[in-house]
Amino acid sequence: MSMLKPLREFADRDRVFDMVNPALRAPRLDVSHGTVLYLEDISVSFDGFRALNDLTLYIQAGELRCIIGPNGAGKTTMMDVITGKTRPDTGSAFFGQSIDLLRLSEPDIAQAGIGRKFQSPTVFEQHTVFENLELAMAGPRGVWSMLFARLNAEQQEKIDRALQLIGLQDLRFALAGSLSHGQKQWLEIGMLLMQEPALLLVDEPVAGMTPQETERTAELLVSLAGERSVVVVEHDMEFVRSIARTVTVLHEGSVLAEGTMDQVQNNPKVVEVYLGEQV
Ligand code: ADP
Ligand code: MG
Repeated sequence: MSMLKPLREFADRDRVFDMVNPALRAPRLDVSHGTVLYLEDISVSFDGFRALNDLTLYIQAGELRCIIGPNGAGKTTMMDVITGKTRPDTGSAFFGQSIDLLRLSEPDIAQAGIGRKFQSPTVFEQHTVFENLELAMAGPRGVWSMLFARLNAEQQEKIDRALQLIGLQDLRFALAGSLSHGQKQWLEIGMLLMQEPALLLVDEPVAGMTPQETERTAELLVSLAGERSVVVVEHDMEFVRSIARTVTVLHEGSVLAEGTMDQVQNNPKVVEVYLGEQV
């Protein structure tokens, strides 16, 4: 027991450092104009090939947006630009009115409030569902303090809320490794939520899911929008139809069409691009 005391003190000191270190203070998000993401005239070339070609796209605060488009349309590259993984050759990318994403590093963008869910879940299999959320709340730099500090009531509540949202309350003590593929995906979404992102990017969330899991994921994503903005890239058209408010169709690195699912499905340009493929 006494061994833990210096460790706790160390953890407390760690927290003080976090507060005084300016690099760890995230810039403030300003969505007073109602737009959370501004992408304007973004171009990205790989060896002369334009993966994004003057892409302009706006996401409203609280919106749930689906991005569809044939393979190679630039969907993943667009997410890479937003999260700082890829730098565009031209264009501008703003998070709210004042945060210039092109001037921030990948970790700083995450810190500013943009969370990204990749296709394959990366949960800690040998830890419980609860512990996974606990570790995610601490973030990469706070794991040490989290292991030795007791959770306060507010933190407990935050984890409970996330468990409720992702529907894993009854599995809080289960090892993450024992979860189904779909449950792991939800847990990872829960882990992202612990960082309280204002914008959540989700790449093909229902790939490999059972029909029941797909349906549950649709409900989950719909429930996440509102309090935060959610951008979903997905190939499964039935799924997109079940959740979409506004759909953006990307083609050859720019926006081909935007509107309701019915509008884009009946757009001749979209029909042509998909060449009879069922959109
Ligand atoms: P989508 O996600 O819509 O399928 P991507 O954004 O992955 O499309 O890719 C858009 C285009 O850019 C594709 O033709 C792809 O081959 C190319 N591309 C993507 N990333 C790279 C890279 N790192 N190097 C070279 N080409 C790339
Ligand atoms: Mg992709």
